[in-house]
Amino acid sequence: MLIACPHCVATNRVPDERLGDDPVCGRCGQALLAGEPVVLTDANFDAVVGKTELPVVIDFWAAWCGPCRMMAPQFTQAARQLKGRVVFAKVDSDASPKLSARFGIRSIPTMLMLRSGVEVRRMSGALQAAQIVGWATKG
Ligand SMILES: [Zn+2]
Repeated sequence: MLIACPHCVATNRVPDERLGDDPVCGRCGQALLAGEPVVLTDANFDAVVGKTELPVVIDFWAAWCGPCRMMAPQFTQAARQLKGRVVFAKVDSDASPKLSARFGIRSIPTMLMLRSGVEVRRMSGALQAAQIVGWATKG
């Protein structure tokens, strides 16, 4: 399975059965699947999402958005629970306006799930960790 490093965007090949064994990047040595949300921007989005074969759940948020701040710890908790199965990422919609425009983000927080760079589903509004996990793993 291909996993792009969220730190240096190198593409790493990880055997499926090793996804839960804390694989590290062959180039920079940092954790590929740390179980923490990674930060994506206009600059690194395609390099990471397009080269990662695990599903990627993206939280579009902004610092001024109260519900986004409320949801942040829930999102982090969901990322820990699905470590090695789903990559969790955050996009600051103010810092990355191109991504917000490209995905037509009209309200935040909005979560998108992508597989190989293609949107599978989306959900708007703040959710609890259990709801995020359920949403990210259905079907
Ligand atoms: Zn790396």
